[in-house]
Amino acid sequence: MRWMLLLFMSLSLPVLAELDYSLKPRQIAEDTWLLEGSTDNFAKTNGGNIVNTAFIVTEQGVVVIDTGPSKRYGEAMRKAIASITEKPVIEVLLTHHHPDHVLGNQAFSDVPISALAGTTELLQQQGDAMSENMYRLVGDWMRGTEAVLPTRTLTPGVRSFGNHDFRLLGLGGHTGADLAILDQKTGVLFAGDLVFYQRALTTPNSPGLAVWLADIATLQGLPWTLIVPGHGPVATDQQPFEQMRDYLGWLDQLMRDGAANGSDMAEMIRSPIPERFTGISLSRYELIRSVSHLYPRYERAQMPRVDSAANK
Ligand SMILES: [Zn+2]
Repeated sequence: MRWMLLLFMSLSLPVLAELDYSLKPRQIAEDTWLLEGSTDNFAKTNGGNIVNTAFIVTEQGVVVIDTGPSKRYGEAMRKAIASITEKPVIEVLLTHHHPDHVLGNQAFSDVPISALAGTTELLQQQGDAMSENMYRLVGDWMRGTEAVLPTRTLTPGVRSFGNHDFRLLGLGGHTGADLAILDQKTGVLFAGDLVFYQRALTTPNSPGLAVWLADIATLQGLPWTLIVPGHGPVATDQQPFEQMRDYLGWLDQLMRDGAANGSDMAEMIRSPIPERFTGISLSRYELIRSVSHLYPRYERAQMPRVDSAANK
């Protein structure tokens, strides 16, 4: 029987070992470390690690930006931080309420978790459903994960952590409550999901693509030297902004034209994707989702008002 037990253990151990995010912090600027996720979709193979999180080691202590997709990720992130510095974590800043950015909060329950008021409100409304959905998508990685609400409300403006002055911007194109953070000491801009780079953007809570485009212009005008997108590689040039503007403009025009021509959703999701976007991961998948989120608004805008029709 012993050999059977050993065989069973040898078969089951690698499975447990696979549930290791193997987070490797990469220094991207002075005091600044990135944990870069993949540009894939949520999957059982990646445990939902499709997101960029970061931490900044200030004189005062460590500031964490987003906590990742699960309790397990949050715990792994704390270990990763401890491998770089002995300084304590002093605060978490959440860029927005989406599950891949906040479901590691449980691992930071000993420090203030700060977010814009709108982020807390959205997480309150959607947190349980989002974490349930994550269990469905990535399975065992999520074990023990629950949505934890922020404990502090951020207001836009400058906040200092040790020798780092952070400019906090309250924007809204991606979810209605999107925090962007410019570290004025290093010039690193943490754009959250206002910037997706080489990965198709997601729209489930977007108030509209025009709002998003305006946010892109605001961010681009800041004195940044390095952009950390919510998803995709960091960049020192304008490329992420240009790609976002191009993609948002295309998506908007596509749906405008579709509504003007009376196309239905089934036709819209089959629209050709321009060749210049072929390097963008998940563009078909996200087009299908964006059409379902946003197209009804374009159709409504196109419909003649019944009262004006009746009055003529
Ligand atoms: Zn998001």
